Amino acid sequence: MKGKLIIFSAPSGAGKTTIVKHLLDSGLPLEFSISACSRQPRIGEINGKDYYFLSADEFNFKIKKNEFIEWEEVYPGNLYGTLKSEPERIWKNNNHVLFDIDVKGGVHLKKLFGENALSVFVMPPSIVELERRLINRCTDDKETIKKRVDKAVYELKFADQFDVIITNDNLLDAKNKAFKLVSDFIYLL
Ligand code: ADP
Ligand code: 5GP
Repeated sequence: MKGKLIIFSAPSGAGKTTIVKHLLDSGLPLEFSISACSRQPRIGEINGKDYYFLSADEFNFKIKKNEFIEWEEVYPGNLYGTLKSEPERIWKNNNHVLFDIDVKGGVHLKKLFGENALSVFVMPPSIVELERRLINRCTDDKETIKKRVDKAVYELKFADQFDVIITNDNLLDAKNKAFKLVSDFIYLL
């Protein structure tokens, strides 16, 4: 099997994680790319499952040793990155790599992996709806939500650099569309 990469990116709150989880439960031969990050684990998050949680020093040391395919300071003071070892690990398991990664990282990975990667931008129906979803998700305070909404306006400008845009208005439609796209990419191309 030639291992492929599927990249999902979106402004925070668009529904990317919901769609990625759906794909991981769908029976397709996919495995989640576990990123390294320097933020603290949230309650319930597990090291080596959700992220490889590193201190800022450990993260910077790995940057120096050139161990990352890509990395970004996604939010001020918080570093996130894909280790070179991660796709190799997943391909050895005979699975394709599924990324949940920020918009700049998604553009970067697509440039690196070209035809071997499918990049998907999850588009919110509107900025107002995006804000409503972030409020309803109850994971961020008011100030964080404002920062994420402001960043979203900037991130939407990158949408046309992705192979495909899925508008996540009706969730079931978006999940079905994502499933068809990814299975076509895995089996038909
Ligand atoms: P992201 O990973 O892009 O930040 P999430 O997957 O966490 O986004 O989704 C943000 C919130 O919006 C979650 O509470 C999720 O349940 C909800 N959500 C996702 N898709 C839809 C949709 N189509 N309609 C309404 N709410 C949605
Ligand atoms: P959170 O802190 O909410 O888990 O994630 C914050 C953001 O970081 C999300 O948009 C997520 O997609 C992004 N992210 C996670 N891993 C990586 C990575 O390896 N590289 C980049 N560039 N972004 C990442």
